Amino acid sequence: MLQASPVGEAIEQISVIDTHEHIRPLEEVRQGPWDFIELCKASYVAADFAAAGMTEADWPGPELEAKERWATFEPWMLRVENTAYYRSLLLGCRKLYGLPEEDEINADNFIPLAEKMQQARARDDLFDYALGQVGKIRCALQDPHWAPFDTETGSEVLTSVLRINSFVMAPFEGQVDHNDASPCDCARKLNFEISGFDSYLELIGTAIEHYKAAGVPAIKSSLAYDRALDFASVGEDDARRLYERGAEGLSDTEIKALQDYLMHTIVDMAAAHDLPIQIHTGIRAGSGDIRGTNPTLLTDLILAHPKARFDLFHGGYPYCSELTVMAKALPNVWLDMCWLPIISPSVVRRMLQEWIEAVPMSKLLWGGDCSRVEAALGALEMAKDIVARVLMAKVKEAAYFTEEIAVRAAKCIMHDNAAELFLGEES
Ligand SMILES: [Zn+2]
Repeated sequence: MLQASPVGEAIEQISVIDTHEHIRPLEEVRQGPWDFIELCKASYVAADFAAAGMTEADWPGPELEAKERWATFEPWMLRVENTAYYRSLLLGCRKLYGLPEEDEINADNFIPLAEKMQQARARDDLFDYALGQVGKIRCALQDPHWAPFDTETGSEVLTSVLRINSFVMAPFEGQVDHNDASPCDCARKLNFEISGFDSYLELIGTAIEHYKAAGVPAIKSSLAYDRALDFASVGEDDARRLYERGAEGLSDTEIKALQDYLMHTIVDMAAAHDLPIQIHTGIRAGSGDIRGTNPTLLTDLILAHPKARFDLFHGGYPYCSELTVMAKALPNVWLDMCWLPIISPSVVRRMLQEWIEAVPMSKLLWGGDCSRVEAALGALEMAKDIVARVLMAKVKEAAYFTEEIAVRAAKCIMHDNAAELFLGEES
């Protein structure tokens, strides 16, 4: 798919740093059947199938023969094959398996593809092979939301970040965040006893220090799935009084105030340990409700912590231009288009034209945001194609800058900026 152009050729040579993935453990991929249909079911495109009317019962069961599985699936596929989520899976399969060669997945190539997929999942080095060797991804930051305090990824390429949601959303014993995680899990892991407000803050500090020492390159917040992104400044004494009253005694406003304080504290501690903070903004998976996700809501938090470095996700979509302005003017804000190329390549094409004109090229980042290696490779193919087309157009059609600058911008987006931000490498 990658367009033949000098920038396209240069992009193919780049060793990529991918800012964001959720690649699920191999054991999970090894359970049950594994073919293109299961890949769809385990990827974002499942939401498109649901939106097209497909119910859980419509997915072909594991008891069906391959031919029947495809026959059951095909009428649904025909409704969804237009979406970028679907197209990206096709690209990923083509990249990893050489199938389908040029055309669509159909009754003829579904079975040989399934055979290749099953051979692949038997490989213990699947992640390094697929992402590292085939995708030329040097490092992918992994957000393990199913095991937020586990840094083991089973891969050289995948490097876990520390997910901090539970520290904010579940400060009291017995509480869990939306992934069923609790700071008590972290405390157990670190042999730490929580005994009140000060020790709770100490646990957060100890955790950030511990995971930094273990090689974690960033902390990650997906709090936009739980609450609005405005974090007010709350005094320590007020926060302590709220904490000491316990979960039962607090109003919604008071709970928010305590969360606000905890988020500011986490950002402070992350900055002290030189760990960038990745924050979900904009569109949320499986939801049409974007209230409270506008990146501009983070302005107080960002201004209050000039030393903290913020990696704001998903281009802020649909608040992309708001994020343009923030990344343009705020030295501690990076603009990360992760996930967005597979939501809508056209949005990224349109926005990247704006971003490349308005934002320093040292602040643009890309990530896949996928749960399977096929999907991550497809997301990478889509992103490379968009970046190449937009930058090449800036050279040829717009006579905006030289090919040399376009190639350097591509390298910034796909590698250098993340290498500097997360790995501390000077470019
Ligand atoms: Zn994600």
